[in-house]
Amino acid sequence: MKKITVLISSVVLAFGVYSCDQPQSNNTDSANNDTIASERNLGNPADVKTDSGPFQLPELKYGYADLDKSIDAETMEVHYSKHFLGYANNLNKAVAGTELEGKTIEEIMKGMDMNNTALRNNGGGYYNHDLYFATMSPDGGGQPSGELSEAINTAFGSFDELKNQLAEAGGKRFGSGWAWLVVDNNGNLAVGSTANQDNPLMPGLEISGTPILGIDVWEHAYYLRYQNKRPDYIDAFFNVIDWNLVAEKYAQAKAE
Ligand code: MN
Repeated sequence: MKKITVLISSVVLAFGVYSCDQPQSNNTDSANNDTIASERNLGNPADVKTDSGPFQLPELKYGYADLDKSIDAETMEVHYSKHFLGYANNLNKAVAGTELEGKTIEEIMKGMDMNNTALRNNGGGYYNHDLYFATMSPDGGGQPSGELSEAINTAFGSFDELKNQLAEAGGKRFGSGWAWLVVDNNGNLAVGSTANQDNPLMPGLEISGTPILGIDVWEHAYYLRYQNKRPDYIDAFFNVIDWNLVAEKYAQAKAE
């Protein structure tokens, strides 16, 4: 009996080795197969839908692979179709049958009961990712112009100093969280960070105001390409920031 087991194991092992060897016999085919496989597996962001409830995922204005100069397609796919979707589904569950069902996400954030862990984590996760994915673009990068540029110079002295402060806020955040550019309650720009899925609309945090830009510094946002090098990810993120959209958010926040 023992001999038969050994024989079967050998056959399985031999077949396994043979199978593994096959793709290496032709490197071009192997590379093509990998490309086809990853394209097939990534799917289409437009097909990602929440189970039910008032909070849906916003449409992306780019494909998963379109920000590759800064963030790889697989990270974008998992981030949007798994993490963001998870927050949206759990937020919908948390508000189902409550008075919160008819409120906007901003109203829910501002009135947050910080002891309601499910609502805090998933509502925050929904709001934060909605902003994050909206403020990226394949045509992003560079520097803002107009009123936002003037406000940055007033608050920080220069665009480079804003960049330094955002990178420091994100880099120093221990564990998971976000770095923020906000319009504070006096209408001035300010930089800060929050832990986990908290954000500056929530009451009683170390930074308060209306976010116009958020940098996700959770490992799920960058680990596949950048591993432990969070500062490199933050630096690369600046190459995909849609400053036109941030400027719109700035104008809206100032008008409030
Ligand atoms: Mn995230």
